Amino acid sequence: MKLKALTLNGFKSFADQTKIEFNGGLTGIVGPNGSGKSNIIDALRWTLGEQSAKSLRGDKMADVIFGGSESRAALNRAEVTLEFDNSDQTLQGLPEEVVICRRLYRSGESEFLINNKNVRLRDINELFMDTGVSRNSFSIISQGKVEAVFNSKPEERRSLIEEAAGISKYKKEKQKAQTELLETTDHLDRVADIIGELE
Ligand code: ATP
Repeated sequence: MKLKALTLNGFKSFADQTKIEFNGGLTGIVGPNGSGKSNIIDALRWTLGEQSAKSLRGDKMADVIFGGSESRAALNRAEVTLEFDNSDQTLQGLPEEVVICRRLYRSGESEFLINNKNVRLRDINELFMDTGVSRNSFSIISQGKVEAVFNSKPEERRSLIEEAAGISKYKKEKQKAQTELLETTDHLDRVADIIGELE
């Protein structure tokens, strides 16, 4: 799977619609300090479901919406679109081109879309889990991340390895099944109590 393009619209310093195309090989983004290079990576992580404003270098989530400049008024909506080439079917069951979109309005309303269809954040997380593209994966190495991995606790390092090995999805499913099993056992106990009372 390849990221073909990223389009920002009203996201952080990108007030106007800006499309960045990745045409194979290496793409370098250069620019003076404060010109918005890191904002592009923030946009990528945000669209992949980042929920922590702090991780996106803000205080609150609305800080991702263009907040105005000397010559321009603030906007009311941030939108980022990612276009993936899915011809290798990394995202199983989805077409060759997958478009993920996230929108946030100042009112607090927010939307996620997969190929123009409204979905939940959970669907985005599940879609990218174990693909190596999720917001926490090694495909995005931000400043200080290498050092953070070295300094992390063994359990945190283990979860990074599990994500890279592609087993986190199954661990999550196991956890869900275990919770359901516990709930079912509780229900069975309750039924046994009721039967006991009736006898
Ligand atoms: P450096 O090379 O120093 O790391 P950079 O090119 O990575 O810089 P960024 O950190 O991506 O730069 O961009 C910072 C700029 O984005 C700042 O000028 C900041 O004012 C602007 N910015 C951040 N959030 C918003 C927002 N919501 N609205 C408008 N501008 C914003």
